[in-house]
Amino acid sequence: MSESKKNVTVPKRSEVNIDDTWDLSILYKSDLAWKRAMSRLEKMVDGYAEFQGKLGQSARMVRACLEFEGEFDKLAERLGSYAFLKASEDVANSTYQGMIGRYTFVATRAGEAASFIAPEVQAISKAKMDRFLRSKELAAHKFQLEKLLRYKPHILSLKEERLLAMQGEVAGTASRIFGQLNDADMKFGFIKDENGVKRELTQSSFRTLLESPKRKVRKEAYHQFYKQYEGHANTLAASYSSSVLQDVYLSRARNFPSSLENALFADRVPASVYDNLIKAVHANLDTVYKYLELRRKALKVKKLHFHDNYIPIVKTAKWHATYDDAVTMVMEALQPLGAQYCGTLEKGLREKRWCDKYENQGKRSGAFSAGGYFGPPYMLLNYQDSVLDSMFTLAHEAGHSMHTYNSAKNQPYQYYDYTIFVAEVASTFNEQLLNSYMLDKACGKKTRAHLINREIDEIRGTLVRQTMFAEFEKITHAIAESGQPLTLEVLREEYGKLLRLYFGEDFVIDESLTLEGLRIPHFYSAFYVYKYATGLSAAIALSRQVMSGDVKARDRYLNFLKSGGSKYPLDLLRGAGVDLEKPEPVNETMKRFKALVDELEELI
Ligand SMILES: [Zn+2]
Repeated sequence: MSESKKNVTVPKRSEVNIDDTWDLSILYKSDLAWKRAMSRLEKMVDGYAEFQGKLGQSARMVRACLEFEGEFDKLAERLGSYAFLKASEDVANSTYQGMIGRYTFVATRAGEAASFIAPEVQAISKAKMDRFLRSKELAAHKFQLEKLLRYKPHILSLKEERLLAMQGEVAGTASRIFGQLNDADMKFGFIKDENGVKRELTQSSFRTLLESPKRKVRKEAYHQFYKQYEGHANTLAASYSSSVLQDVYLSRARNFPSSLENALFADRVPASVYDNLIKAVHANLDTVYKYLELRRKALKVKKLHFHDNYIPIVKTAKWHATYDDAVTMVMEALQPLGAQYCGTLEKGLREKRWCDKYENQGKRSGAFSAGGYFGPPYMLLNYQDSVLDSMFTLAHEAGHSMHTYNSAKNQPYQYYDYTIFVAEVASTFNEQLLNSYMLDKACGKKTRAHLINREIDEIRGTLVRQTMFAEFEKITHAIAESGQPLTLEVLREEYGKLLRLYFGEDFVIDESLTLEGLRIPHFYSAFYVYKYATGLSAAIALSRQVMSGDVKARDRYLNFLKSGGSKYPLDLLRGAGVDLEKPEPVNETMKRFKALVDELEELI
């Protein structure tokens, strides 16, 4: 009922004030202009054939091919962005769904047409390739080619590659089965929330219900939710272990020492970074236990369970800030980044319509930044005046957007896009600056406690929890690699051990919680979540340096924002002033965590 009541006040897209929307006309003046450009792209696909079989001829030929690919991708990106962003304005609009379909079809065809490039480049003899790489002709593409050539020891014979490609069609089976079970087949029933309103228990409402102030509601939601997982435990274990076995198979087929090293290869991250992360978090778990004890006391419960883990322990003070107020505060908070950064961003947020600000009927929920090489670094928000987190989201997405903006302005197309490994650094960096600004300004214990608790929970959720996940992935793959079967019992036992380690002896681990490791969708892209943990650590370390007023540190950081993907992620971050091959950044973050917990203890 409250849903439908809410919808009355949410405007239709056609009723939204134009100044509150993003200006997509910079990408294409009209849908018709998009269609014309799309026809051009469709014709371009055949252009790839010009180069097939000829890349070994000369450096000039390789360059021509890479330049063609760059031009194709640039146009495709602009077309895809327009369709995707238009569709986000109103997901029910079938015109834009159709445009996305047309774009996807061409992109798939282009992927097939371009699939000869990597193997042909890799087949060029070393002596010849060395000559090519030394030539002026390929200077602008050297790193791009080196990234391709690194894979050479892991490329098999044509026949073997063909077999692997054929197997690729079934490689995603485990993930598909899990997705169907988790998102479609499992039904979790209904729960009465703290207001006595009956609500359907789903993947997303589960999290909201765990924040219910009524413990009975949280407890019921938890047990009812996990009952479904208990009922499907064997299927979940079979599906997850198949995914692990697939990872092991592929890493062996491609001559990697382990599936972990296979997964880290693309970013050229040594396994020691992964191990350091786990070690550094282990060394600081006492602080996590201390925080949990504080949480237990604040909630006034005898024993802490998982269903007590998400409810905020500090009540939010009343908050009101319009979008313009929020921009003002974010801009003040970002002052340490200098006039140029702030000037560009403020214009984008206030005048140049980078941002689609408010909710409307059918608009995509949540928030994202989606800039490209061409056009402004657009942001989608669902800004709410009364929600403090809305302002943090604005700062976060603005961080992504300014990263894209600076990289696109300073790099050639082939190097402007950055990897996931560095992406969350620029966004959480801005959140750090905003939090520190708010703490300085915070009058009143309540706001201060709330802000501190907010950051504690961010570090807990991003660094501690994701590291526990990362450790689980390491353990399960190692078990499979040693030839032991990954049975349900083994998986539960290993996950249970980690829960006890990360939550401590005083935290009650309900037996059903040992199934949590079998319900994390990210585990179907193995060894991915650790990047959240390293990203946050890097952002905290870098933001501390810049906030200290060190001009050199600021310039290093701004330079990082301009670097896109022109180097490997660890090199980019080292240039910015943080070395993730050393344990310090993670230790620093945990030190900050400890300071925050100590202060919170005083405040509540
Ligand atoms: Zn982000």
